[in-house]
Amino acid sequence: MESMVERFVRYTSINTRSNEESTTIPSTQTQVDFATNVLVPDLKAIGLDEVIYNRENGFIIGTLHANTDEKAPSIGFIAHMDTADYNAENIKPRIVENYDGSDICLNEEHQIFTRRADFPNLKNYIGKSLVVTDGLTLLGGDDKAGICEIMEALAYLVAHPEIKHGRIMCAFGPDEEIGTGADHFDVKQFPVDYAYTIDGESLGQLEYETFNAAGGTVILKGVSVHTGTAKGIMINCAKLAMQFDALLPGAAVPEYTCGRQGFFMLMSMETQVDTGKMNYIIRDHDKELFEAKKAFFLQAGQTLNEIYGREVCEVSVKDQYYNMY
Ligand SMILES: [Zn+2]
Repeated sequence: MESMVERFVRYTSINTRSNEESTTIPSTQTQVDFATNVLVPDLKAIGLDEVIYNRENGFIIGTLHANTDEKAPSIGFIAHMDTADYNAENIKPRIVENYDGSDICLNEEHQIFTRRADFPNLKNYIGKSLVVTDGLTLLGGDDKAGICEIMEALAYLVAHPEIKHGRIMCAFGPDEEIGTGADHFDVKQFPVDYAYTIDGESLGQLEYETFNAAGGTVILKGVSVHTGTAKGIMINCAKLAMQFDALLPGAAVPEYTCGRQGFFMLMSMETQVDTGKMNYIIRDHDKELFEAKKAFFLQAGQTLNEIYGREVCEVSVKDQYYNMY
């Protein structure tokens, strides 16, 4: 029989990267393939009573019937199958047995290391086995680990009918990393009293709240003219981008904040003289502070337009998810 680690390595080897630019649901065909060719057959092989794939929203819903007549609550477990927006082509998981606490060489040829200095929490895993990549791709343990944990727990319960339980359901969904998967989740298909998302950071950690999250977009509109006649006319989008970012509170960034402190994060920036685009994420646990941050972000755009006396930027924000607490 396949071990949990073997299952994890098999799942992480498969590209299920989501794509923010896509308009399809799920956002990528790789997720549909993974759901229908891998996860659905695997859930059936475990011996669940019902396994369905919902083509409308890309969710797989599995059910294990209660095995007791006594009144027991029904419980759901949720995980996401997509991986974050980094290279997922040709993923090569590798197991580091009995980790000794030193820097890990991921790729000899390209001299890529996971260093203790960058990841101090590696010291918590000395003596354990770690699954790593060759440094050229994401592993995608987020959230294939969650899927494996749920699968193995379900397999255990099927194999041990002496453990009495109420109805247990699982839901594996797409597009969590781009913040859209849960939008289409059909709660009616998942009738449970309690549900947990298995998508945590470290063993034993229970999270009961998240950020409120929004994406912010800034479209920059410059004026490109010959440098010899640019005085008083040229508006350079690279400069506009810097000006816009400088209007945001400089300490409210992920690298200077922790815990419940919110932030603005500049995710990407692309500029020519006459055009440009910046993508931000905006996060805050507190709903009021979240609304204030979005308003501040929009105001920064307005301020820049006022400074120039014309529309040099078009700023928009879009909510992504809310604090579950
Ligand atoms: Zn995740």
